[in-house]
Amino acid sequence: MELVGKRALVNGGSRGIGAAIAIVLAEKGADVAITYQRSPDRAAIVVRSIEEKSRRGLAIQADSADPEAINRAVTETVDTLGGLDILVNSAGVATAGMTADLSLADLQAMLDVNVRAPVLFAQAAIPHLSSGGRIISIGSSLAERVPFPGVTAYAMSKSALLSFTRGLSRELGPQGITVNLVSPGSTDTEMNPANGENADYQRSLTSLGRFGEPHEIASAVAFLASPAANLITGAVLNVDAGFNA
Ligand code: NAP
Repeated sequence: MELVGKRALVNGGSRGIGAAIAIVLAEKGADVAITYQRSPDRAAIVVRSIEEKSRRGLAIQADSADPEAINRAVTETVDTLGGLDILVNSAGVATAGMTADLSLADLQAMLDVNVRAPVLFAQAAIPHLSSGGRIISIGSSLAERVPFPGVTAYAMSKSALLSFTRGLSRELGPQGITVNLVSPGSTDTEMNPANGENADYQRSLTSLGRFGEPHEIASAVAFLASPAANLITGAVLNVDAGFNA
């Protein structure tokens, strides 16, 4: 219960990795707001799960591609939970395909949701964070290395979070706020199901020969959110079954 009294906002918390993060932060004692785009029912299930742990939960419909929605989500979180201590940027979109065939709409969505939104969420959150505060983003093992074709723009969008994390850690260090990146490998979610078309190929690229589960990514986020990680900032934690070994 090392996060008792903390207030967290997890964007993209209705499903997959973000939902698992919201639930583990509540298990550790935090009150948790989540955002979602188009899954109100799934978001309500996550809120119920948070409340079952006797924590306050809140679901906010907010498209991460919409700057005004981002500001509204942070304001609503602060107003409802009484402040903000932990921001987790988990919302993400991925469109596979060769660069030559990538539509402008898909490229724009990946840049807006995967790159611009974490910056805008941080801008909105920073005035509310104090010493001990946390900004944790979800990157991808497809950032430092891109070992197969068809994910170029997605990998490019996730690699932007490497320098965002490092640079922001320099800016917020003097205030005692840490900024870190968790980079999952192949993780069994609707974005990348473990029984999907090329799942066996993805497994073959790992040391452990398997996909991760959302809760295994969430536990790394919970560690970085905890006081045990007070000295860790500007770091990239690969949680990828050895994909990047
Ligand atoms: P997912 O199962 O597709 O879930 C995506 C989540 O993001 C949902 O909660 C979704 O909300 C939300 N979201 C998507 N677009 C949004 C938008 N415009 N505004 C607000 N929320 C939005 O994906 P996931 O696998 O859990 O991925 C979570 C993060 O991990 C992403 O950043 C992804 O890039 C990263 N990641 C995933 C893997 C993997 O193998 N799964 C590997 C590396 C990194 P709705 O339910 O409302 O649509």
